[in-house]
Parts: sequence; C-alpha cells; structure tokens
Amino acid sequence: MRIFYSNPTEQYKSKKKQIDKSIRDVLNGSSYILGKNVQKFERELSNYIGTKYSVGVANGTDAIEIALRAFDISKGDEVISVSHTALASIAAIVSTGATPVLIDVKKDDFTINADLIKKNITKKTKAILVVHIYGKAADMNEILKISKKFNIKIIEDVSQAHGAKYNNKYLGSFGDISTFSFYPTKNLGAIGDGGALCTNNLKLSEKIKKIRQYGWNKFRKAEIIGRNSRLDEIQAAILRVKLKHLNNDIKKRQKIALIYKKKINNKNIIHPKVQNFKEHAFHLYVLKVKKRDKLIKFLKKNGIICGIHYPTPIHLQPGYKSIIKIRDKLKNTESLSKEIISIPIYPELEIFKVNKICKIINKFY
Ligand SMILES: *Cc1c(COP(=O)(O)O)cnc(C)c1O
Repeated sequence: MRIFYSNPTEQYKSKKKQIDKSIRDVLNGSSYILGKNVQKFERELSNYIGTKYSVGVANGTDAIEIALRAFDISKGDEVISVSHTALASIAAIVSTGATPVLIDVKKDDFTINADLIKKNITKKTKAILVVHIYGKAADMNEILKISKKFNIKIIEDVSQAHGAKYNNKYLGSFGDISTFSFYPTKNLGAIGDGGALCTNNLKLSEKIKKIRQYGWNKFRKAEIIGRNSRLDEIQAAILRVKLKHLNNDIKKRQKIALIYKKKINNKNIIHPKVQNFKEHAFHLYVLKVKKRDKLIKFLKKNGIICGIHYPTPIHLQPGYKSIIKIRDKLKNTESLSKEIISIPIYPELEIFKVNKICKIINKFY
C-alpha cells in the first residue's frame, strides 16, 4: 500500500458518476468552446468566492499574467512577491516583462512578511502578488493598508487556497483581482489544466475577457492586444461538479490536519502556525523537520510518499536568477527550503492511514 501526499485519481473515483455524466453531456452538446459550462462555472465560482465577476482561463499561470496585463503592467514595472512559492507565480510576472522583486516569508506560517513590503516599494512598484501558500491566508489587513497608502494593486494568488477564509470571508475576495489554478492536485482541481480570475470591477472583468481571446470584444473586433487562454468546456463541467463538494472536502482536510497536530509529537518537528483551523484550507500540511532527507527515505520505505514545496527558492533557479531583484537576503526562504516536508493530505485519505502516518513519523526520531 502506498500513500501519496496528494491523490487526484482518488478524488475522481469518489465523484466518478457525476463527473462521467458531466463529460458525456459536453460531448453530446453543441458547444465545445466557452459554452454553457464555462459560463455557469464562472457564475458559480464568483458566487462562491463572493465577487461580482469571474473569468475562466487556461491555467493558473495565465490567470496571473492576464491579471498583470489588465493593469497594463509591463517592462520597467516592478511586482513584489515571494520566492517561497510555486514557480508559476513568478513565471507569470516574468512573462509580462515586469521585474519580480522577491521578499522573505515569515518562518512560522510561510506567508509574505508584510513589514518587508514597505521597505521594497519604489516608484516602479505597480502590484503586489500575494500568495496564500499551502491554503493559509496572508496578513490581508496589513497588506490592504499598504495597498491603499501607496496606491499599489493587489493580486491574490489563490491557487493553493480555494475555500480558505480570512476574517470569515473567502480568500480571493480581498484583492483588486484574484487568480486561481485548477491543476489536478489543487483543492479545486480539474482533470487537466484550468484557471480563473475573480474581481468586483466590471471594467476589469471585461478587459480580462478581451485579453483571454485575442483582444476581441463581443463583436469579434480586437480593441486591445490579447492571446488565447480559454478555460476548456469539459474542464469547466468537471469543476462544476467538484465545486459543490469543495466545502465538504475542506472539512475533511481540516480534520486530517487536526489529527496530525495532535498526534505528531517530537522536538525535532515544528507544525505550521495556524490561527484558525476552520479558515485554513490545508492544501498541503507542511512540517519543518530535522534530518529531512533521511525522514523522507524512511517514510518512502514505509509506503508514504511525501513532497517538498519547494526544494529550490525561485531566486536560486538557474533560469530565473538573473531577472529577479532582491534587496535583502531571503534567510527564512532559504532555510525553509531545506527543512520542509509535505505529508499526505487529501479529502479521500482514510483516517486509519492518517493515524498510521503519525505513528511512523513518531517512530523515526
Ligand atoms: C499551482 C499554482 C499556480 C498555477 O499553476 P498552473 O499550473 O499554471 O495552473 C500558481 N501559483 C501557485 C502558488 C500555485 O500553487
């Protein structure tokens, strides 16, 4: 028996009947591109998150790039974000021509250190890309204050935090624009690629729709420069099925996280800081551990396959090093990359397996 840190196949199997039917309906339908499933999913997603508008796109990287383009951010501009994130976040900034200015995260909850944002604002700063890493909200109160004071746009990268909350409101409803990935392992995952943007601003949502499709307006006239980044109709149909189960799935993730918190006890292990178990979406459960690489091998031998999110900070990636700007050393980011381990967490993971994982980790030290 092998247990993986995430398992999208198990998720498909648990919802197979509904998903298979929704795919068949698309196949037998009359519109394969931006059809009724994409339209309905966009409405359902914005209703869920609590924004007025939502636009489906091809993936989460495109969603961030399109958000930046909607603000006309390009070469010469700076976008503040973190190095402790998925490469996707920063690849999106780079693709607009803007310069990513990367700052350190807090070592206890892994999110952006809001105090460092102010220190890194220049005349060129146009936006802050806030990543709610692992399903945990960044300090939105502080960040929104900074955004107001300095007139800088906030883009929330919610790719790891579908269904997470902050002060009782869903993440993705705080920024000027929020972006989502539906990569299969995410809390809300397609069976292929998918992405979306949410906003309360009608003009922005219309501009995003144009950029998504060559720059076209409703009459297929290109008023601005765009590209092709459409959410696929079949993926939208699948996402509509899964969105209905999202809150229940997150409750299951929270339950697993609580068991880990209670049952994994060792001075060599530090649990993630969680302010509120009911608001954290636990996309990943990330421990800081001593002897990380030995632990990973030991767990693998026992059938438990863990992940590292992420082993190489973005500012140390060979392909990106030279275009990233860093003003201070990213001490926490660099030490975290050597200590973190993502242990299995997904809604279909049975509790007896969770207990077994706790036992095996405790046994190692
Ligand atoms: C998954 C992810 C993305 C986007 O990924 P895609 O593969 O392009 O859908 C962006 N940011 C973060 C933090 C992610 O985890």
